[in-house]
Amino acid sequence: MKKIAVLTSGGDAPGMNAAIRAVVRAGIYYGFEVYGVYQGYKGLIEDDLEKLDEYSVSDKIQRGGTFLRSARCLEMKTDEGLNKAVNTLHKHGIEGLVVIGGDGSYRGAQKLSRAGINVIGIPGTIDNDISCTEYSIGFDTAVNTAVDAINKIRDTSSSHNRVNVVEVMGRNSGFIALYAGIAAGAEAILIPEKELNLDVVCDRIKKGFALGKYYGLVILAEGVGHYEEFCDVIEKYSGVTTRGTNLGYIQRGGSPSAFDRMLASKMGAMAVECLKDGKTNRCMCYQHGRFLDMEIEEALSMPYSIDEEAKRIAEMIAI
Ligand code: ADP
Repeated sequence: MKKIAVLTSGGDAPGMNAAIRAVVRAGIYYGFEVYGVYQGYKGLIEDDLEKLDEYSVSDKIQRGGTFLRSARCLEMKTDEGLNKAVNTLHKHGIEGLVVIGGDGSYRGAQKLSRAGINVIGIPGTIDNDISCTEYSIGFDTAVNTAVDAINKIRDTSSSHNRVNVVEVMGRNSGFIALYAGIAAGAEAILIPEKELNLDVVCDRIKKGFALGKYYGLVILAEGVGHYEEFCDVIEKYSGVTTRGTNLGYIQRGGSPSAFDRMLASKMGAMAVECLKDGKTNRCMCYQHGRFLDMEIEEALSMPYSIDEEAKRIAEMIAI
């Protein structure tokens, strides 16, 4: 194998640039020509790619987003789209591909692999909803961004004796809400992985205020609902003025944390080593402090689960 390519697909995540950089630098280190594909599978279908050198990825490690840009590409789900993507790779003599994205992107990778392309997946999503890895690239930064914003909301909340409901991202996963809620010291965390019981939340707020608390923070995962649906109910049943904020897309941007840069750098380099060793249809994982690779089929078949220990501890220490 002489030529490999890298692309970012699905929702962007801070640290994707660091992962691209590692793939490019490690690829060149091992003697590959490395191509960057623009806009994920869309660029593969439309033949939008170019050769990268060591310096193409200079000054990128600290940047959020992805300089290769990303896209949601429905055509990739069709046989016609898949054939076009494969043809582009054949046309350029590219035999190996690193796909940085979430589980949707892995499904595309799996199909390319079945079509004879050597593909390795790297988990890149702020949602941390890829079961085979304890951390996906971007999650740590998103949690830090959310905690930073919640700290600011705490200032205004405490100044006005209010409850604030803060809605965070995560799609169907409660990981960002759970981790940000614990780290920000929230009174309540509402996640899809836990039965919603607003009575408990309101009672806790009421009890807290009766004992001298003068503000409260409720972290809401978008997978449970939107903050507008909860503010009135919480205000009515807790008796405390309640405001809401949706943190929105700021959680997807920003300079990646050191942890995400490390994760991205290691996974990027190790993905290239997989290709060098002739592996295909595998994805990079981080489990129990170790980095490993796993069959994409196996990774996709693993049932999703939240961090049960964090969930248990959140209940224990929020009062
Ligand atoms: P993520 O990778 O973050 O989960 P998506 O689910 O939007 O994001 O998937 C990203 C892209 O991966 C899609 O836009 C599509 O191009 C490709 N993809 C998703 N599912 C499939 C599939 N079943 N077959 C082929 N390609 C897919």
